[in-house]
Amino acid sequence: MSTSTDNASIVSPTTEIMTSTVFDELGLERDSDNIYLQIIGAMLHAAEILEVPHHIQLILAQPKNEIMVHFPVLMDNGNYALFKGYRVQHNNALGPYKGGIRFHPHVGLDDVKALSALMTMKCSLVRIPFGGGKGGVKCDPRALSEDELMRVTRRFVCAIAPQIGPDDDIPAPDVGTTSQVMAWFADTYMQISEQTNAPAVVTGKPVEFGGSLGRDKATGQGVIDVLAEMLPDIGLTFASSTCSVLGFGNVGSWAAKLYSERGGKVCAVMDHTGAVYHKDGLDITALDEYARDHHGIAGFEKTPSGAEAITEEQFYSVKVDVFIPAALEQMITKEKADLLNCKLIAEAANAPMTPRGERALIARGIEILPAILCSAGGVTVSYFEWVQNRANQYWDLEKVDDELNRHMVLAARRTQLARHRFGVDMRTAAYIGALEQIAQVYKVRGIFP
Ligand code: NAD
Repeated sequence: MSTSTDNASIVSPTTEIMTSTVFDELGLERDSDNIYLQIIGAMLHAAEILEVPHHIQLILAQPKNEIMVHFPVLMDNGNYALFKGYRVQHNNALGPYKGGIRFHPHVGLDDVKALSALMTMKCSLVRIPFGGGKGGVKCDPRALSEDELMRVTRRFVCAIAPQIGPDDDIPAPDVGTTSQVMAWFADTYMQISEQTNAPAVVTGKPVEFGGSLGRDKATGQGVIDVLAEMLPDIGLTFASSTCSVLGFGNVGSWAAKLYSERGGKVCAVMDHTGAVYHKDGLDITALDEYARDHHGIAGFEKTPSGAEAITEEQFYSVKVDVFIPAALEQMITKEKADLLNCKLIAEAANAPMTPRGERALIARGIEILPAILCSAGGVTVSYFEWVQNRANQYWDLEKVDDELNRHMVLAARRTQLARHRFGVDMRTAAYIGALEQIAQVYKVRGIFP
């Protein structure tokens, strides 16, 4: 990793990304506000540097399949509501499509396409034999009863069942979906496909139903594994550093917990309900318990934890070494980026910053560790879960943690190597590390017929 002075001279991938002729050939607009086009642009920028053959760039610039479904669900009040769901299968050159299912009111086709492309890149960067997919249902899971949530899940599985399967496309949890949702998912698929031994159709299941030990914490753990590799490059250790975390769901809470277990101080946390601060580091175990009981962190300042409530603006302005965005996409706008007071950003969330936000951060010499590297821990342990299901094995936690660490460390080193070799920013370097593998696989497989 370079120093911050080096960084100032590196061009942000999103400033120059949309120069590729692939945009014209596919009739894609050069719209940097569109999250799918941002991601494709950054990927093509890296592909040009790596000199990936043009036909492979064309293939990777569009998903293979975009599945959109509508399905009715009986609500508790006796009425039927119609739901819209998506499954986008971006690329399967390396193996079955793999990627999470999101339940959120703002799920839309371009988001799902963008996230599916990121999955292709993530799986390739960490060298697991999966392609990229993503799905979602436009709904507010917090507004559904448990029975309604189960019926939405089961009907969605019925709608996409012909397109998925343990050898074809393997969903997983994402924002708004839990291990319980994955259990209903697997059960429904097993009922309708009549494959009684097919829990491998989905990962992130409860441990008692074929889930893997360590899957729950895997994405947060992967962030920490990458930071352990990268922090020394800027003269820091966990014990000597401070951080703030945006989002306190699965990924954010685990990243915060593991950061503080390594001796680091997590000084500020924000979720959709509020933000809290403690200059000596928040008690993350207490915050986690509180957030579970209260469905958010708001009010934690009223407990005897010593934490104080802060505003959104104060949260972004807190001086820390590391900022971990672990909430939703595109939250770090230029305005938020201008407030940030950190040395390093570890993207635990997918595509957490807008191009203008990213440009502002790079101009200030702030190092950005991209999502396809930092947040690849979840899919890596999902792969371990799939392997265990297929082999009817159960790995102990030590084995899961060791294997995850090995994949994450190698991916981090691959990224650092590409950065030095090509003199590019970390995001482009991570894409190069991913594209090397895909380009090589296409080369040896060729294009049918
Ligand atoms: P989650 O639903 O468990 O948590 C999301 C968090 O974001 C919640 O704490 C919520 O309060 C917070 N949030 C939402 N809107 C906010 C707002 N406006 N302001 C502040 N906070 C807000 O989701 P998750 O599984 O932790 O995923 C978080 C991110 O990580 C997403 O981008 C997801 O795609 C990505 N990711 C998740 C996994 C995984 O294994 N779960 C794997 C890779 C990447």
